[in-house]
Amino acid sequence: MTFKRRTLIAGNWKMNGGLAVNAGLLAELLSSSINSSSEVLVCVPSVYLAQCESTLSNTAIAYGAQDVSAHSSGAYTGEVSSTMLADFSCKYVIVGHSERRAYHHESNELVAQKALQALRSNICPIVCVGETLEQREAGKTNEIVIAQLRAVMDLLDDGALARIVVAYEPVWAIGTGKTATPEMAQDVHAVLRSTLAERSEFAAEKVRILYGGSMKPENAKELLAMPDIDGGLIGGASLKAVDFLSIVAAA
Ligand code: PGA
Repeated sequence: MTFKRRTLIAGNWKMNGGLAVNAGLLAELLSSSINSSSEVLVCVPSVYLAQCESTLSNTAIAYGAQDVSAHSSGAYTGEVSSTMLADFSCKYVIVGHSERRAYHHESNELVAQKALQALRSNICPIVCVGETLEQREAGKTNEIVIAQLRAVMDLLDDGALARIVVAYEPVWAIGTGKTATPEMAQDVHAVLRSTLAERSEFAAEKVRILYGGSMKPENAKELLAMPDIDGGLIGGASLKAVDFLSIVAAA
């Protein structure tokens, strides 16, 4: 059985924006009548989910969060649970972004717990994996991304596994202007898909694997043309409507 995986173009606003700036950006995105067959998503700071709910409900643009707690509720000051995200009809949440792994010391196991919590609230986790430059130069790329993905596979049953999205984001390409070549990215995506296939052929066919790391209008088409690249996770270029929309158009 082969699935036609629907392309997902996801913006990751990171810690940018504000009520007024977001309103402007969302209005620009909405005014462009997105007539793409791709799914379009913005992942925003959690405090702006209410703004997204009121602005984006029943539009062609979905919204999501950038992190979620690994716990369901309780004494975890500062954390936001998956049920709280679900209160705002949030469809997606990024987990394990390399900035969280690096600055908040998130382990593969913690990221896996977060993915599980998201799924329990019917929110699709976008599980980020990726190697540092040092790891790539040491020839460890596959080993690193497989370990990051396997931690998630270990916690999920086959049905849940088929519902996740994976994002391959080489750390050295994030926010640096350096992009993996389409071939380099495709190689890693193929490794990730065959890792999923070891557990479930169904999940391997169904799970979308996004590329992230300096994706922009100039390189999106080539990257998205690769057989195992099912979309993009876009940071910098998602903050400018024209850039984000031209990536959507390239998909
Ligand atoms: P970038 O960020 O597009 O600015 O490189 C991507 C990401 O970190 O998700």
